[in-house]
Amino acid sequence: MVSQPNPVTTERGSGPIVAGLPMPEFHRIGVKPISGACGCEISGVDLRRPLDDETLAEVMKAFEHFLVILFRDQDLTPEQHKHFSRYFGEITELPQAPIYDGHRDMQEVRREAHEPENVVPSFEHFHTDSPFLLQPPKCVVMRALEVPQWGGDTAFSNAYLVYEHMSDGLKALLDGLQVVYSGKDIWAKNAKLAPEKRLRLRESHDFTEDELENIHPAVRVHPVTGRKALFATTAYFKRFVGWSEEESRALLAYLQSLAQHLHYHCRVKWKKDTLIVWDNRFTLHRGVHDFQYERRHLVRTTVIGERPLGPSDLMRS
Ligand code: MN
Repeated sequence: MVSQPNPVTTERGSGPIVAGLPMPEFHRIGVKPISGACGCEISGVDLRRPLDDETLAEVMKAFEHFLVILFRDQDLTPEQHKHFSRYFGEITELPQAPIYDGHRDMQEVRREAHEPENVVPSFEHFHTDSPFLLQPPKCVVMRALEVPQWGGDTAFSNAYLVYEHMSDGLKALLDGLQVVYSGKDIWAKNAKLAPEKRLRLRESHDFTEDELENIHPAVRVHPVTGRKALFATTAYFKRFVGWSEEESRALLAYLQSLAQHLHYHCRVKWKKDTLIVWDNRFTLHRGVHDFQYERRHLVRTTVIGERPLGPSDLMRS
């Protein structure tokens, strides 16, 4: 038995619902939802040029609402890619992700035609990127350089909807939980694997050991709207604070299964020069490695987010 979703009330009133809330209005840009759960395709914007205030405000409104925004045919230089990314915040390097073509503040996701699917850290499950950082990424801006003829999509799951469909009892349990996330052991674990099973990781970085492990709330609260979402996934997960690893894994496996439900998802079909921005705070994602013997090459920037707020932070303020 699950409770009814409890959508955040908005000033806009009622209208067609998409991504859990009434569909906003757009005047400057074209916005077409990809699914009922999250994601939209935006048209009428050239990301090579600076955006005027009104267009930028609508792009941000689409990002806030749909969590995944997609633009086609954006043939950007690395500088143009970074410039657009900075509208969302400060960009950062990551300790574990390989850098792109000498740009320390860009990462690449690359699988060569001859390589097995495990070479890129797609993980077995939906995940959020780099949750072990004190301020995990707000969003990722990713662009396709080369894609397979078929397959190689990226799938997203709306973590607000996952939370909103839980029973009040489970919500109350999770509202009080915190998660230990750690990226400390990924290099050691990788080195133990057979060479053909290893991930492609960055070989050196300037992050300290302490920067690679942090505790965050299991339910994340949007700093402006107060809307709540599940923020607990298997990648880099160690345990819930105060729980044994065995207990933690059992609950986590159930939570992870919820994110699999198709009615929380959208899937992005990449083409060359497709650019997407996804909210890494309130969605989970995974690459779909259903292609063989073809190259897939994506470049990305990572925008720093706020330190995750939990339900108790909301009550204190
Ligand atoms: Mn990822």
